[in-house]
Amino acid sequence: MNRDTICVQGGYTPGNGEPRQIPIIQSTTFKYDTSEDMGKLFDLEADGYFYSRLQNPTCDAVARKIAALEGGTAAMLTSSGQAANFFALFNICQCGDHIVSSSTIYGGTFNLISVTMAKMGIDVTFVSPTCTEEELDAAFRPNTKAVFGETIANPALTVLDIEKFAHAAHAHGVPLIVDNTFPTPVNCQPIAWGADIVTHSTTKYMDGHGAAVGGAIVDSGKFDWMAHADKFPGLCTPDESYHGITYAERFGREGAFITKATAQLMRDFGCCQSPQSAFILNLGLESLHVRMARHCENALAVARFLEQHPKVAYVDYCGLESSPYYPLAQKYLPHGSCGVVSFGLAGGREAASTFMKSLRLAAIETHVADARTCCLNPASSTHRQMNDEQLKAAGVPAELVRMSCGLEASEDLIADIAQALDKV
Ligand SMILES: *Cc1c(COP(=O)(O)O)cnc(C)c1O
Repeated sequence: MNRDTICVQGGYTPGNGEPRQIPIIQSTTFKYDTSEDMGKLFDLEADGYFYSRLQNPTCDAVARKIAALEGGTAAMLTSSGQAANFFALFNICQCGDHIVSSSTIYGGTFNLISVTMAKMGIDVTFVSPTCTEEELDAAFRPNTKAVFGETIANPALTVLDIEKFAHAAHAHGVPLIVDNTFPTPVNCQPIAWGADIVTHSTTKYMDGHGAAVGGAIVDSGKFDWMAHADKFPGLCTPDESYHGITYAERFGREGAFITKATAQLMRDFGCCQSPQSAFILNLGLESLHVRMARHCENALAVARFLEQHPKVAYVDYCGLESSPYYPLAQKYLPHGSCGVVSFGLAGGREAASTFMKSLRLAAIETHVADARTCCLNPASSTHRQMNDEQLKAAGVPAELVRMSCGLEASEDLIADIAQALDKV
């Protein structure tokens, strides 16, 4: 099926007389005739549902659609993007291990890896996404278990050279995990470029209406765990909590990663998505291919307008020829990147504040990827504890505005921006 068709119909095919729309199975538990039937499910010897913390038919149908969109073999939904990235990393890392990560990643993920996972005894080395192959190579240690990056970073908007990162990861016998939240599989399929695991905050474009927080993990089914069995004991040696099952043997490359993440991490941490949220997410997915094109078209029009405006000092958008990431965007994102544009007001902090106050259509929000245009001045909100020097060092200077272009008419967005810039 074409990707557009998968957006609309993937993951769920009703039988004769069954509901056309994915049913919301709002049930915590499932009934069985015998204890033996249920025992087989607990032992992972049979497929089926027994408790919605582990698996639920609504969530599974939506996960199947996301797996198909990314070109993966298995997927699972999580309660949020944070849970997805934590599970993807923690499924193969434990105390004493090490991660190599791009330095320009989402703030929540940066904290997760550098603070919370550090408390669990997992180290990280951050590398610039523009580092050379030699610099990237030098970041690895014998205990490195994964490489992490974002296709388009939030909010830095850097574009990851996926092939470069995949090549380095594979040369060291570890998988590349790519957070593909911003482009979505409509604009980039990291697996086709060598990524092994793909994660999502489905809260963003996949839902796309600011309605449901959620996350997803997709396995490419390509990484050969058994070929690196010494590095991944959790996948390649018996799990005593499941009667000695060895995930990589029993479920193969296609299923081992997601089965282990479900059987162990979802069981123990319980960060599951509700069937209601999965249903809302699926409504968003049904129009993802149509919406992404419009988000990108609006963002490019806004970026071009801003670029020629005398009160705007600079514009970051990888779809602009002036962007240092334009060549990478042409390679990995030829049909568009995302709807988020960052720019700096020539008048600094004061100008940014006046500009934001004067907007009428674009709302001030800590959100992106909504159907409604929204914007944020990190210096006066998410990063307000920092002084101007610290803001600069963090890559979010005081004058920076991040605008997430929605699905409105671009001439209305530009008119709104123009009148707000006039007030500056
Ligand atoms: C928002 C976001 C996350 C976190 O997702 P939540 O659903 O808010 O937990 C992770 N990665 C990226 C790139 C994001 O934009």
